[in-house]
Amino acid sequence: MTPFARSILQWYDDYGRKTLPWQQNKTPYTVWLSEIMLQQTQVATVIPYYQKFLERFPTVGDLAKAEQDEVLHYWTGLGYYARARNLHKAAQVVMNEHSGEFPTTLEEMNALPGVGRSTAAAVLSSVFKLPHAILDGNVKRTLARSFAIEGWPGKKQVENQLWQFAEMHTPGQDVDKYNQAMMDMGALVCTRSRPKCTLCPVQSFCLANKQGNPLDYPGKKPKKQKPEKQTWFAICVHEQQVWLEQRPSSGIWGGLHCFPQSDSSDISLCLDSLGVVDHQIMSQTALIAFRHTFSHYHLDITPVLVKLSSLPNQVMEDSKGLWYNLNKPNKVGLAAPVKQLLDTLNYELN
Ligand code: SF4
Repeated sequence: MTPFARSILQWYDDYGRKTLPWQQNKTPYTVWLSEIMLQQTQVATVIPYYQKFLERFPTVGDLAKAEQDEVLHYWTGLGYYARARNLHKAAQVVMNEHSGEFPTTLEEMNALPGVGRSTAAAVLSSVFKLPHAILDGNVKRTLARSFAIEGWPGKKQVENQLWQFAEMHTPGQDVDKYNQAMMDMGALVCTRSRPKCTLCPVQSFCLANKQGNPLDYPGKKPKKQKPEKQTWFAICVHEQQVWLEQRPSSGIWGGLHCFPQSDSSDISLCLDSLGVVDHQIMSQTALIAFRHTFSHYHLDITPVLVKLSSLPNQVMEDSKGLWYNLNKPNKVGLAAPVKQLLDTLNYELN
């Protein structure tokens, strides 16, 4: 075992996290679920989602059998919905191709939808104590600083270098604790903006600490201005019912329910496809615009509230959607800004 790994393990015994919900009664299913939820999401945010999700889908079989809409519903608010769609698909692969048992090799685990090399290694090392290295964002940061690895980890060459260090220091024994300790180190000690170097178990080895510039690692992504796009949401309301369309399964908010959208302030096409006729429109008001930011662009959204005197008779045949009841919310997945607007609407109309 390298001195680096030994120090990390000693620190884990005293300070590592051992009481998180997914660390109790571990199974491949629960650890995999937590790993997927924890991608790009903080522990405190994940805990209530994890608990509700497990209550509703206690086994991989329950998840595989569920409708995608319901899975997305339980994911609403966690973001990065491709994770939920892949989770659902992976559960079906486990049931159909692995007789309901999670695979135990890195290659097969890595082949499940939405499971990358690091996630596969995290599950196998945590549940079966198989000595596989992990490399999530926290681990990348700690390694990049400890060994002064330059460059942005999004570049293949830098990532490969990080993997080499990760593998070199991952011990053959206590790998479950070591991997958990590395994640905890990044979350609790070697944090993004204020690393607590004086409390760090590897301070004496850390090259960035010696150089006095931990914040220079890992290297930053080369800056590119995010493009800005605009959209208008047509919020058609009759009494407590609001029309929501289901989006196609690929692309932004794939499979989630959303208000009909228009690329211009003229929302008449949205109203036509819903079969709204002029005399049904009691009022049409543009609400305050707001910005929703995706990883690759900003979306400026102007909600337009259309109050209807009655429900339209004829929704166009190819429209896939539902009249969402604000008093009895349907169990469907909602895009984050849609959920936010529905909550406000509920408050205003009641
Ligand atoms: Fe991170 Fe500081 Fe520890 Fe280095 S000494 S690994 S920069 S916390």
